[in-house]
Amino acid sequence: MSCAVTEPVPANIDVLIVGAGPVGMTLALALADSPWRVLLIDRRARGAWADDPRALAIAHGSRQLLERLKAWSEPAGTAIREIHVSQRGGFGRTLLKAQDYGVPALGYVMRYRDLAAALDSRLTAEQLLAPCRVERIEAGHEGASVTLMHNGTTRCITAKLVVHAEGTPQDEPGIRVCDYRQHAIVAEVRPHPDHQHRAWERFTPDGPLALLPLGDDYSVVFTVPPEKADRLLRLDDAGFLAALHQQFGQRLDFVATGARSSFPLALRLRSQTTQQRQVWIGNAAQTLHPVSGQGFNLGLRDAWELAEILHTQTDAGNPNGLAAYARRRQLDRRAGMAFTDGLVRLFSNELPPLRVARGLGLLALDLCPPLRHFVAKRMIWGARSWL
Ligand SMILES: Cc1cc2nc3c(=O)[nH]c(=O)nc-3n(C[C@H](O)[C@H](O)[C@H](O)COP(=O)(O)OP(=O)(O)OC[C@H]3O[C@@H](n4cnc5c(N)ncnc54)[C@H](O)[C@@H]3O)c2cc1C
Repeated sequence: MSCAVTEPVPANIDVLIVGAGPVGMTLALALADSPWRVLLIDRRARGAWADDPRALAIAHGSRQLLERLKAWSEPAGTAIREIHVSQRGGFGRTLLKAQDYGVPALGYVMRYRDLAAALDSRLTAEQLLAPCRVERIEAGHEGASVTLMHNGTTRCITAKLVVHAEGTPQDEPGIRVCDYRQHAIVAEVRPHPDHQHRAWERFTPDGPLALLPLGDDYSVVFTVPPEKADRLLRLDDAGFLAALHQQFGQRLDFVATGARSSFPLALRLRSQTTQQRQVWIGNAAQTLHPVSGQGFNLGLRDAWELAEILHTQTDAGNPNGLAAYARRRQLDRRAGMAFTDGLVRLFSNELPPLRVARGLGLLALDLCPPLRHFVAKRMIWGARSWL
């Protein structure tokens, strides 16, 4: 294969980040003041994220990290001051309040596209090459040879370390897959009365239903079995609002809705997040169910901690550095996976004794401050709540 190496692709770099989603961009920014030559690539054109319909709940601790990168968009974020957790058709509920933890908000809600725009605005034209595809990676002792396709030209470069931040992986060896047989319908919906910065997490037999305050609206994540998702997508607006109301219950009315989109939900967990000269972060390492909004927050911490370790290395792909990274991230990623997976399984089972046990659990959370604080701190700080 003939390989051209011309501008704008340098022939030798230290860190190649594959995937300019929020996690890949975070890593590129966190390495901006390092001695490393870093290149970020994405297979889609720059700004393709503008079509993404998702909104993300961003933990208070994640906001602090984004602020340190000057990539926090204050006007685009809506504060979550309370989270109300309950189950449909069962007793028990718990209420988490920011004021109990001395923080201005438990978290913030921001559209994926606004977050991506804030991160992208900090990247120079030289830092991000897009659209650009990886054709082949050959990892060796000293570095990885990578074949890229950019502007119809094949280019070969070497990198000391290849970071995979390409998002959700396909089925492949080394990936544990658990299909939840649930789809998330995402929409922005106007509530009545106002949301007053309260988020709702309501567990239903179909799956969790989350309402996240976003501007004057709620960003809704309405989880249902695939057949029901198809039906919900086909309804007109009035029919969809009625279905949402029925699923949520009487406490709120919904008066208008924006466009709807659907995401299939599965757990995808990579058993080994490092290999010779390669590391996987963000959704490429673990794709979680969106319940309780852990996925991006976990990926952000992957990027942050990888950058911290790379700052201490003399060779970006040093196996000891990669092993230290894998060790440091193990508890957080396993806990994030267990937390979301456990919630989905526990609340999707309709056996009457389980419904009673869940009600008692929610009641216990509400009545037992240490338990409640543990869950709230997981929402605010992520891994740090375990220490
Ligand atoms: C409905 C829904 C709601 C969610 N809500 C929340 C929430 O409230 N809070 C939260 O923390 N998380 C949430 N998540 C999870 C969150 O969206 C992901 O964890 C986050 O987007 C992962 O970021 P990433 O950069 O790792 O991957 P992605 O966002 O998937 O970005 C990957 C990037 O890599 C690029 N790419 C892919 N393949 C290649 C390739 N071969 N070569 C080059 N580039 C490539 C893509 O174009 C893309 O730009 C939600 C997810 C869903 C589906």
